[in-house]
Amino acid sequence: MIDLRSDTLTKPGNAMRHAMARAEVGDDVYAEDPTVSRLEETVAAMFGRPGALFFPSGSMANQTALQVLVAPGDEVLTDADAHIVSYELGAAARYGGIQTRTVVADRGLLDPGVVAAQIRLPRYGTVPTRAVAIENTHNRGGGAVYPFETLQRLRAVTEAAGVQLHCDGARIWHAAIAQDRPLPDYAALADTLMVSVSKALGAPVGSLLIGTPEVLGQARVIRKRLGGGMRQSGVIAAAALVAVTGNVARLADDHRRARELATACADARPGVCDPAQVETNIVLLNTRELQATPSAPWFVERAGDAGLRAGVLGPDTVRLVTHLDVTDADIAAAVKILRDLLKATD
Ligand SMILES: *Cc1c(COP(=O)(O)O)cnc(C)c1O
Repeated sequence: MIDLRSDTLTKPGNAMRHAMARAEVGDDVYAEDPTVSRLEETVAAMFGRPGALFFPSGSMANQTALQVLVAPGDEVLTDADAHIVSYELGAAARYGGIQTRTVVADRGLLDPGVVAAQIRLPRYGTVPTRAVAIENTHNRGGGAVYPFETLQRLRAVTEAAGVQLHCDGARIWHAAIAQDRPLPDYAALADTLMVSVSKALGAPVGSLLIGTPEVLGQARVIRKRLGGGMRQSGVIAAAALVAVTGNVARLADDHRRARELATACADARPGVCDPAQVETNIVLLNTRELQATPSAPWFVERAGDAGLRAGVLGPDTVRLVTHLDVTDADIAAAVKILRDLLKATD
């Protein structure tokens, strides 16, 4: 079975497990776990920022950032398909008392002009926009990467309005590899940046929030309040260290393999996907023209019968994600299964 449902499915390999077994640990709620501290310093240095804070999940790190940046009753502005409004189960409203306003954006990428027009300043008796949240790369946007110049314009827009900019960079590594840019370029343009080590980098668990010492001080309190104070978490931080030091450059392979999948699908069935839009490790297939309605569960079931697990992202959207545990041989086998299936549905 080839599993392309998600890049979260990777399992720690031997080097990672050895690092975990050997990890020096302490109680991180006392800030005494040396391996967690080393991870936080390493990631902060990779992004050229003063600090980082280790979280059990990207969702908790995102929500903590929102709570730091946006007071209860104020609002965050984001795109309608963002992870923070699609997959975090209403946490901003439930735990932060935060109002979320969304705009529909092509492939999830916010347009700076639209953002400038939508930001509401406090003085007009409306709900003030305190933060803009972007997602780079964009999951439901098919791994879309913000053109760097768009990021610079978004930064200029938020700065001019006195609004904070949060970046959900669960896959910021993929953006950096796709654009061949250094990681600090991305961190410099956001007030808070969340990065995941468990998406394609192969660590079993964890994300980090990058920001100023003031922000991270507040974030540490909110993390504890949400139940995210971890004790001897050096065991998982050790895995994260192996992931960030060893598994970033190889993401180029994941991107190449995703394009191979997309090209094969488009060859077999034009219209099902556009390989030119596959910039990173996510391939979305539009199955609307295939048989059943909704077509995506139908397609995924048949792919499963043939030995390929794919994800359902919507009634007519199938998602394929390449990752550390997928080889070129797996991709060749997946291509054959997809081609047969797409041709058979003619
Ligand atoms: C997976 C993901 C998250 C959240 O990560 P978890 O660790 O699963 O909570 C946040 N944003 C994006 C874009 C993601 O893909």
